Amino acid sequence: MICLGIESTAHTFGCSVVDSAGKILSDARDVYRAPEGKGIHPREASRHHIDVSSETLKQSLDLAGVSMKEIDIIGYSAGPGLGPCLRVGAVVARTLSGFYRKPLVPVNHALGHIELGAMLTGATDPLVLLVSGGHTMMLVFSQQRWRVFGETLDITIGQLLDQFGRAVGFASPCGGRIEQLAGQSSGNYIQLPYIVKGNDVSFSGLLTAAKRLAENNKLEDVCYSLQETSFAMLAEVVERALSFTGRKEMIIVGGVSANRRLSQMLEAACERQNSRFYTCPIKYSGDNGAQIAWTAILDYQATGKNVQVQDAHVRQSWRLDTVDIGWRS
Ligand code: AMP
Ligand code: MG
Repeated sequence: MICLGIESTAHTFGCSVVDSAGKILSDARDVYRAPEGKGIHPREASRHHIDVSSETLKQSLDLAGVSMKEIDIIGYSAGPGLGPCLRVGAVVARTLSGFYRKPLVPVNHALGHIELGAMLTGATDPLVLLVSGGHTMMLVFSQQRWRVFGETLDITIGQLLDQFGRAVGFASPCGGRIEQLAGQSSGNYIQLPYIVKGNDVSFSGLLTAAKRLAENNKLEDVCYSLQETSFAMLAEVVERALSFTGRKEMIIVGGVSANRRLSQMLEAACERQNSRFYTCPIKYSGDNGAQIAWTAILDYQATGKNVQVQDAHVRQSWRLDTVDIGWRS
């Protein structure tokens, strides 16, 4: 079976063809870039997605060497995400499904990050840390759902990095640039608010304090201190969750998993808890159509899940822990 996956929750419009053995036959993406110092504007991003959608789709089919007729099912990112962006992907998916008469499978975007990461690394029953622009969540699979063992109480780690970066003049997304600058610091740690409540984290006070620090300190040192503080908070809650749940594997997924310092800290926590540490390959850590295609295959094969074109809706808010999972036990 081969599936076309369509991703359009935020800045990325992606189309990917994946087969049921887990082979990624193509992964075409086009990413909306916000003007310097600005965040993602949903309407502008959706216009970008409209402009690039047919070329990205063509590219993904060409790279995979297949035609639409050879595609067995279509998966699309149905949420959570930005409404105008989600609707572009859904329109493309509905149109293709209606015209070519292919089953249409709505996919929860967060689930896509997890399932592709698990497939690519071989992690079977991990504690998951999902860290991206839209999520900061720790999850464990239990009784047919991914259960949340900790999450952010306000902004996500991606928002922390991007909002700080934009405040000091970087172009969004800023995580990579902050990591690079932090690496140039001589290790001069400046105290910042460290807020862990139970197994939840809070980053908004940290953001305000870091912006203020940036006014009269070396930017390298502020980036370093921002990373050390926020990542230590995440490592603390991960270590406690590993200890509570007894999970012997942990995986980090989402765009922020590209960060090497974060991986280093989590790996150390895993070692102390005798758990194996996995990280989603950087190439697939950000948003992409392969996440959606692979998850659609899992769902369709296990439960036959598919919807009629008129029922192929999108949901801007769609918590992962409300989704019943039919392919894991
Ligand atoms: P996603 O929403 O999964 O596409 O992830 C996007 C987020 O990942 C943005 O907030 C980026 O700033 C962040 N990101 C990308 N690369 C890195 C990095 N090397 N270190 C930290 N964050 C990163
Ligand atoms: Mg994402």
